[in-house]
Amino acid sequence: MIVMKFGGSSLESGEAIHRVTQIVKSELARKPVVVVSAMGKTTNRLLDLAAEAERGHSYFAWQILKELQEYHLEEASKVVSGGALDSLGDSLHRQFTQLCRLIFETSDDGKEFTPALKDEVASLGERVSSEIMAAAMQAAGINSFHLDSRKVILTDDKHTQATPQYWETYAKLRRVIPVLAADRTVVMGGFIGATASGATTTLGRGGSDLSASIVGAGVSAEEIQIWTDVDGMLSCDPRVLQGGYRLKCLSYDEATAM
Ligand code: ASP
Ligand code: MG
Repeated sequence: MIVMKFGGSSLESGEAIHRVTQIVKSELARKPVVVVSAMGKTTNRLLDLAAEAERGHSYFAWQILKELQEYHLEEASKVVSGGALDSLGDSLHRQFTQLCRLIFETSDDGKEFTPALKDEVASLGERVSSEIMAAAMQAAGINSFHLDSRKVILTDDKHTQATPQYWETYAKLRRVIPVLAADRTVVMGGFIGATASGATTTLGRGGSDLSASIVGAGVSAEEIQIWTDVDGMLSCDPRVLQGGYRLKCLSYDEATAM
């Protein structure tokens, strides 16, 4: 078994998602478990939304939610069609509406915007990207299964920066994934988990890589692949120094040193 993790840029459009399905297809013999981030810059937008909601600007929060829902549906419709697209659309609609209701209820009742609520917002990206990815894989002829990460990644209740309860999580993963993976390719969202009482948590920004590692350790994967969509590796960080060039090849040791 291997774990293949794809970051936001690898899933930012229908075309990108299609490419990912083909990459997964080429590794089917190694029984991949697919872990995905939120699509494109979705998490940033969800955090903008949370900030608006926290200020009591529920109209602006709603606008961002609407924009995100349209974006997800638009990109999904490039890779899924027919009845599968209808049920995917229904599911997206249900989840976006639920979150919208939660935000309005909180602001209308003058309730506090808690870190737990922030996690409900921030987790939406991976909840829906994993569902879209599973449907896209199915449409591409891969027998897939969407696993809600909250059922297997158990964390403490430090919302927005939760720590996985490693051993309990490994036990769950070991119990659940091999059975599902016997005849299907499991797809799960990174970054998210749940407390013992079922509250949604997130593992901190960039947490999907950690999710992939946990899944890999839990199922004793022979390899964990972290895929990202970039032009290549540069000789220096372009955000710090200009004039870097793209490296033709790089050893693991050199990459580690950099
Ligand atoms: N979507 C989350 C973030 O942007 C987690 C991740 O992509 O690893 O931080
Ligand atoms: Mg990352």
